[in-house]
Amino acid sequence: MKIISAELFLLKIPFKMNFAHSKADRFFSDSIILKLTALDDSGFPVTGWGEAVVREYVSGSLGEGDRQSLLKSAFARLLPFRMLELSKEELLDAVRFSEASETELPLLCAVETAVLDLLCRAEKVDIYSLLGLKPVRRQIIYGGTLPILQPQAAEKLLEGYRKMGINNLRIKLGSNFEYNRDVVGLTQKIMGKGFDLKVDANAGWSLADAAENIPMIVAAGIKIIEEPFGREEAGESRISELSPDGLTDGLTFMADESALTAADIRRAAEEKTFGMFNIRLAKNGGLLRALSMAEEAEHLGLRYMAGCHVGETGILSAAGRAAASIMGKPEYTDGSYDLHLLSGNITKEDLSFGPGGAAEIIRDNGLGYEIDEEKLKGYTNERIDV
Ligand SMILES: [Mg+2]
Repeated sequence: MKIISAELFLLKIPFKMNFAHSKADRFFSDSIILKLTALDDSGFPVTGWGEAVVREYVSGSLGEGDRQSLLKSAFARLLPFRMLELSKEELLDAVRFSEASETELPLLCAVETAVLDLLCRAEKVDIYSLLGLKPVRRQIIYGGTLPILQPQAAEKLLEGYRKMGINNLRIKLGSNFEYNRDVVGLTQKIMGKGFDLKVDANAGWSLADAAENIPMIVAAGIKIIEEPFGREEAGESRISELSPDGLTDGLTFMADESALTAADIRRAAEEKTFGMFNIRLAKNGGLLRALSMAEEAEHLGLRYMAGCHVGETGILSAAGRAAASIMGKPEYTDGSYDLHLLSGNITKEDLSFGPGGAAEIIRDNGLGYEIDEEKLKGYTNERIDV
C-alpha cells in the first residue's frame, strides 16, 4: 500500500447558536479535514479521511508565520511514510509510534484517523476488527456541555438538554464569580437539584479566583473541577497550594490542558495533583493514543472521561464513539453533538446522539462514516495540497 496524495480542507461550518468561551470566541466549526489517497496492493485507489481541531490555547502554538505554510510543513513532517510502499502493519505502526511534538498532537489526530479509515476500507473491516479490540459497551450515553453564554441563550440550551433527557453536564466557567454563581444556579433550577454537574474553568483562574469560586461550587454539590489554572512546569502546582486549608476536600481536579500525553498522567499521579483526566482524540493525537492514556490512568488507579472538542464533525464523533466503546471505564463521555450544534455536516450519516444522550456503536462500517464530498466542498474555506 502506498499513500500517493494528501489534501487538507479547512472548514467553516456555522454553529446553530453563538458560543462564547473564556479564551476564544468561535461561531463556527473550524476543523481541518485530511484526505489521504493510497493505492492498495492491486493498484486500486483507496481513500481515508481524518480530522484535526487545533486549539492553540490547549496544545500550544504551531509557530510564527502564515497558517497555510505552517500546516503544510507540519503535515508533511507527520506523513514521512508518504510515497513509500508499506504493508498494512507498517502503516499502522508508523502512526502508532510517530514522534509528534505536543503542539502537533491535534494534527496527528487527523493523520491517525485518516490512516485508520484507509486501512478499514482497504481491508473491508470495521475499526474493532482492524485493531483486534472488542467494544466493552454497545451503547454510549453522552453528556452535555454548557458554554459561556448570555443568560437567555444558556437557558434555551439548558431547556434543550432537559427535553433531550441528558443526564450529566459540564458547565464552562469564567473568572467572574457572579457569572459562575448565576450559571450554576440557573442550571440547577432548570435541570433540578442533584443533577450530575461538573465545571470547567478552562485554565482561567488565579489562586484568588479559586478561593472565591470553590466554596460556591462545593455548596452546589459539584465534585469535579476541570483545569482551574492551566498547564504548569514539573514541580510547580497551584493545586497543591490550595489543599492545606481544606478548601478542596472531597473535590477531584480533572486535567484537560494539563493532560496532553500519557507522561502527563504519570506526572499528575506522582505529584498528586489531578485525580481525573479529560481524554480527547483531537487533543491527544487520535484514537490509539487516547486508548493508551485511558489504560495508563486505569493502571495508576486514576479516573478519566472521554471528551470532545466543541465543533467536531461526524468524523471525530464516530472515531470518539469507537474510542469510548473500547475504553475500560470512562466515567463520562462527551461528543456526537453534530446536528445539535452544527448547521450542517460533512458525513453522510447523522452521528448526533438521540434521546437521553444515547447512541449505538457502529459495526461493520469502517470507522463509521462516509464523507459527502459535495457538502465538504460547500463548507471548505481553503484547500491545501500537502
Ligand atoms: Mg477543558
